Amino acid sequence: MKLSLVVPCYNEEQNVALFYQTAKAVFDAEGYSYECVFVNDGSADNTLGELKRLHAEADGNIRIVSFSRNFGKEAAMYAGIEHAKGELICLIDADLQQRPEVVAYMVKRLDEVPELDCVAAYQQQRHESGTLTFFKSSFYKLINSVSDTRFVQGASDFRTFRRSVAEAVLSMGEYHRFSKGILSWVGFNTEYIPYEVQERAAGESKWSFKKLFKYAIDGIIAFSTAPLAIPTAMGIIMAVISFLYLGIKGLYCLLSPTAFFSQGSVLIFLLLLVGGLQLLSIGIIGKYLAKTYEQSKNRPIYIAREIIEPKNDD
Ligand code: UDP
Ligand code: MG
Repeated sequence: MKLSLVVPCYNEEQNVALFYQTAKAVFDAEGYSYECVFVNDGSADNTLGELKRLHAEADGNIRIVSFSRNFGKEAAMYAGIEHAKGELICLIDADLQQRPEVVAYMVKRLDEVPELDCVAAYQQQRHESGTLTFFKSSFYKLINSVSDTRFVQGASDFRTFRRSVAEAVLSMGEYHRFSKGILSWVGFNTEYIPYEVQERAAGESKWSFKKLFKYAIDGIIAFSTAPLAIPTAMGIIMAVISFLYLGIKGLYCLLSPTAFFSQGSVLIFLLLLVGGLQLLSIGIIGKYLAKTYEQSKNRPIYIAREIIEPKNDD
């Protein structure tokens, strides 16, 4: 099997058949074997019924994984990759916003360049409001400044990669998944190609601003422990301020014959100092928590792209 299309579907009853027909038209013409792995992510509409009908009618290249409830797109993509049998795996949405023609081009690139492991698409033109664009670009700036993993602005999950990449992605068993980060974390040679997002074929987007915001926070927490260092910084600043206060107040008392060191001043100093020390302690605990958190994700220690054994090894 050359290509597996992994298609997460949540309430896409109007789109799945259209998606399959469009993909069929493109890939039958390409002349290589392919399959569609549809993951029904606990749809409340008749998506599963439509998928079963397609499965009965189509050429035997449809695989369905149906979830017991809605687990989210990340879980759907994981399940799809896990069940895909192709040498190449493509993540693509069911709503035809991402054209199968672009997938055919991605496959061509991977065939042409053996050194390439992944071809990812990034949005060239966005059909969205200025506010959303502002929030999205702020998110990329923020996450790139606090995380060691690189995040390419506008790059979506829409991409095609080799089995080696798929296995690396599956080896990251973390529960709170953030694909943009995972796909970047695993490394490999990736080529970015521009693509234009189409209008949704039918239905509406499942992403509200609130959901996107939550997803962005999840992404930052999954790929950075910088927020846990905030108390340390605040604690140090407060402790420094307390000593500055003590110094300035002391100097003032020395120089001015009328001023004296009141109980109130001592109290302010102690309040700042103790507050600072408390925050610092929380920050230290945060450091250990960060290490435990990293370890609990059970990420692989390394991912080898290839291993070359000695020629005379038997
Ligand atoms: N999706 C999913 N589970 C969810 C939400 C979305 O499997 O909980 C699927 C959805 O059916 C679609 C893809 O993820 O195939 C992208 O969703 P959507 O089109 O709503 O996102 P947008 O294109 O607006 O970013
Ligand atoms: Mg969409």
